[in-house]
Amino acid sequence: MRHALSVTSECVPLVKTGGLADVAGALPGALVAEGWEMRTLLPGYSVVMDALGKTKAALTFESLFGGPAKVLQASAGGLKLFVLDAPHLFKRDGGPYSDSGGRDWPDNPQRFAVLSLAGARIAAEGAGKWAPDVVHVHDWQAGLTPYYMHRDGTRVPSVMTIHNIAFHGLAPAAQLDQLGLDRADFTESGFEYWGGISALKAGLNFATKLTTVSPSYARELMTPEFGMGLDGVLRQRAEDLSGILNGIDTDVWNPAGDPNVPAYKSPPGKRRAKAALRKEFGLGEADGPLCVVVSRLSDQKGLDLLLDALPALVDRGGQLALLGSGDPTLEGRFRAADNGHPSVAVRIGYDEALSHLMIAGADAIIVPSRFEPCGLTQLYGLRYGTVPIVAYTGGLIDTVIDATPMALRTGVATGFHVHPATADALARALMRATDLYKEGDAWRLMQRNGMKMPVGWERSAAEYAALYASIAPAP
Ligand code: ADP
Repeated sequence: MRHALSVTSECVPLVKTGGLADVAGALPGALVAEGWEMRTLLPGYSVVMDALGKTKAALTFESLFGGPAKVLQASAGGLKLFVLDAPHLFKRDGGPYSDSGGRDWPDNPQRFAVLSLAGARIAAEGAGKWAPDVVHVHDWQAGLTPYYMHRDGTRVPSVMTIHNIAFHGLAPAAQLDQLGLDRADFTESGFEYWGGISALKAGLNFATKLTTVSPSYARELMTPEFGMGLDGVLRQRAEDLSGILNGIDTDVWNPAGDPNVPAYKSPPGKRRAKAALRKEFGLGEADGPLCVVVSRLSDQKGLDLLLDALPALVDRGGQLALLGSGDPTLEGRFRAADNGHPSVAVRIGYDEALSHLMIAGADAIIVPSRFEPCGLTQLYGLRYGTVPIVAYTGGLIDTVIDATPMALRTGVATGFHVHPATADALARALMRATDLYKEGDAWRLMQRNGMKMPVGWERSAAEYAALYASIAPAP
């Protein structure tokens, strides 16, 4: 087996705030078949430390930004882990990036510089008897790893994956020395960004290869509209940037064996799940499709467009059940849309089990994101015969085949694209979906097409393995 070190700030099943955690948790298992053993370096947040069984110290640091630290070797949740045990930085109540009131930890630059340093040290020296052939880092939290490796002359190749370019990992220039950053690299081709330090840019400039989580998002990132200030950097690295779609865990998301859902193997079998979902949300029978949303409520997800387009669905007999949390204004607007409306049901919160029932029981899932690096819920939808209605952006383009007249005639459609990203366009897509739903056969064909799509990790893992092998040829 060849060795890959993954450096990440979150990883299923130990700690998750978004899709990054799903990727980091799934990739190690899927890479085994490709001949790669992946070990994962994670911060020792309280929730992570509490989940560890037996541990062994693999590296020690006398002092890292104000306290002693160790890299522990451990296993948990089926993963081989290196955990950075630095209680002064990670032993806290609250989330990985913010306190329980949602405020970012003020020392985030230090916390994740430390994670990155530990990754670079494992790359340079190995840990225990294990040393990586490739280092794979995720998002800004691990962005300094390729830089520290460059600084130290470590010759192990690296891959950086961009899951969400909106977060740059900025720190003031005054922290250069403290973070161990060389002033000679405080330049446009290094990690300097508008007079400050960007950990994300460090990764983009110093990693051997760059990936993001879909081919379409890789193209979009090189444009000013989506690059969020880093499109120029990415255009310069166009040759090294590629898109590899995320997969989903097809054991966890399996309509034929999902503990949260009455089992089914084909579209007609969804009936019992639909009834259970209606009961859960207090929704009655209806002529139109039962649509769901499972999402963070943030501007990115475009759900304000759905609020405006909702009449197009409910006036044609459709229904909406939404599960989500986040932006208080959106939460309030969805609560208000639910209030007294028999066809709209809203649950504010985060509920993994309920999300399974919703995706199984629904006819369609709506994902109207303004940008979407890959998106996972439309993949769950495909797997469960729940037709995705998605914005024409990022990974949503690459994973859903629009029900154009041509695609319907040739029988390959799997869902609906919304283009452009406006409430009007979403309303039109909802009308198209409602009409097709009432046609029965064409709808069932779309459901079956979706259920046949290869949405697991096998293909993606093969692409990552090929990328690793291209920069770290077997000896
Ligand atoms: P992002 O990472 O931008 O939030 P993704 O679609 O890539 O978007 O991943 C979101 C993940 O979080 C999915 O697994 C989705 O099911 C889950 N999720 C989001 N909101 C909720 C919620 N309120 N309850 C349960 N699961 C949720």
